[in-house]
Amino acid sequence: MAIFDEARFIRLVEARFGTAPLPGAPLTIGDDCALIAPGPGLTAVTTDTMVEGVHFKRAWATAKQIGQRLAAVNLSDLAGMGAEPTFALLSVSLTHDVTEGWAKGFLDGFATELESHGCRVVGGNMTAAPAALSFTVTLMGRLPKRGGLLRSGAKVGDLVCVTGTLGDGALGYLDLTAGRKSALAGRYLSPTPRVEWGQLLLRERLATACMDISDGLALDLERMLAASGGHSARIDLGKIPLSPAARRREPTDDFWRTVVAGGDDYELLFTVNPRKEARLSRLVSEGVLTASIIGRVESPRSGAPVRVIRPDGTPFSLSSAGWLHGGSPVNRR
Ligand SMILES: [Mg+2]
Repeated sequence: MAIFDEARFIRLVEARFGTAPLPGAPLTIGDDCALIAPGPGLTAVTTDTMVEGVHFKRAWATAKQIGQRLAAVNLSDLAGMGAEPTFALLSVSLTHDVTEGWAKGFLDGFATELESHGCRVVGGNMTAAPAALSFTVTLMGRLPKRGGLLRSGAKVGDLVCVTGTLGDGALGYLDLTAGRKSALAGRYLSPTPRVEWGQLLLRERLATACMDISDGLALDLERMLAASGGHSARIDLGKIPLSPAARRREPTDDFWRTVVAGGDDYELLFTVNPRKEARLSRLVSEGVLTASIIGRVESPRSGAPVRVIRPDGTPFSLSSAGWLHGGSPVNRR
């Protein structure tokens, strides 16, 4: 138990992240600035903040898991554009109850997740916080000169697709709030950023639009449709991919609302020209991409831009008591 001072924390940072020059970064931690030489093409840059009590609770996870999750949710934004992660900056505000052991675990989880995607920390900052921990991460990623995947390219008639399975994060979050340990709670705490799949979609020129799903399929699809010129979309509930653990839950309407609108999936949402459906299927059958076609982009219509259809053809309503359109109780951000 010790109050943290900046010099001690920086020693931990230097020990875990290293201070030697890196390929593409001739100067890293230790000077006033890092120096990077991003090379040809474009650099994707994204930043995000996680605040204790709002985005995470120390009681729910180990320090290592919190560090890992911080890296993963930020990597997911690079994945959404098809960028190849390169460098990271980490700014932390630490409360006085943070121990050296906790800080070590956190830094290790953060670095391990980044390094598994080829990304290295080149700098950051530390301050003291009065009451709650907070972390701000800035990530950079490499893109070809022609740019990355955007939200704005979806066309009427395009197939609406998602990677992986949906709902695990939100169902896991509900388990955690109810004090239940479950496999899905683990999925909430340790999401998998789809970094390689994003790069594949960009390389194959398969997606007309792409973004990561952080706030739930319904809301993020709405954002994509709005960015693409105000289209609508139909989603088939029966085509939404579920994990084996989610499939074991009772498929009540609230279950489906959690899956469709809950958030914390960190899968990719993308649209594909129907002429490329065979190529999409080939990538899936070759095992290089896990993705499902769950609906279609349609012409603008009045009412909610996203309509969800049950397997029997009747409409499924995302709103009920406690469920506001585009913002469920699980949808915290
Ligand atoms: Mg995002």
